[in-house]
Amino acid sequence: MNIPVVRTITALRAKMAAWRRESLTVALVPTMGALHAGHLVLVQEGLQRADRVVVSVFVNPTQFGPQEDFAHYPRVETLDREQLANIGASLLFAPPVTEMYPAGFATTITVTGVSEGLCGTFRPAYFTGVATVVTKLLLQSLPDMALFGEKDYQQLQVIRRLVQDLDIPVSIISVPTVREFDGLALSSRNAYLSPEERRRAMTLYQVLREVSIAVAAGVQADMATDRARVRVLDAGFNHIDYLEVRDADTLTPLKGHVRRPARVLAAAWLGRTRLIDNVPIPPRSDVSSMDSKANSA
Ligand code: AMP
Repeated sequence: MNIPVVRTITALRAKMAAWRRESLTVALVPTMGALHAGHLVLVQEGLQRADRVVVSVFVNPTQFGPQEDFAHYPRVETLDREQLANIGASLLFAPPVTEMYPAGFATTITVTGVSEGLCGTFRPAYFTGVATVVTKLLLQSLPDMALFGEKDYQQLQVIRRLVQDLDIPVSIISVPTVREFDGLALSSRNAYLSPEERRRAMTLYQVLREVSIAVAAGVQADMATDRARVRVLDAGFNHIDYLEVRDADTLTPLKGHVRRPARVLAAAWLGRTRLIDNVPIPPRSDVSSMDSKANSA
């Protein structure tokens, strides 16, 4: 089995136009490749909701800082194509860097507010890079919908904001984080972890769940996150960029008692690998069911 691949915007638009003529709906799943089950769930969700699913694979240089892993980021197009064909995706869009950023490229999209703090503090170029490339991908393909993972929660909020602010006629669909058996969020960067680091990595999710349960049960957010930071460092993480409770929509910091939909988000380093994760803080009535799940785990 194989999947058609296009590498130019012109070829992508020709495919989209042909589907439009047949009145087919189209979903876009933007990725950087090295596809895992988390990406594939986005594709599956797209297939449920639309007639065709386009997956883009583009390791976007503008969202990496100078000291980050752009050069080493895994690039495995043959494997990606196999996985996409098996799952029934319709088209792979895999442009070279020169197609996305030809000579003279000079425009960027910056989203204020939700981009600030959290990853925005530690990866200064990141959200402008993401916002610019996602805007381009949406305008190049003009799909009915685009799917993104809650795994990158701040990114999701940035994309929701820019689509609303720039009047881009696309529905943004979010999909819950897909996890390994022990709770570690699937990520292309998990491949960097040594076996020892991999064993320790699960603690991040465990601790975020504990914060979520505690805050939902009435513990003050800053007390819960202070305790959580100690737990993460005790588990062998060498540094925490942030571990915070934020408003689920605006990402405004929340301290004290939390009475509105919230999220606990973290980024922490295990050796040379930076892991991010986040967990919703359930409304009060969901606490007992989450607690009993935690106890039986
Ligand atoms: P990336 O290739 O890391 O840029 O991710 C592409 C898309 O897949 C983004 O919308 C991510 O949020 C999403 N994604 C990555 N990992 C997961 C996961 N474990 N579960 C759900 N979605 C994910």
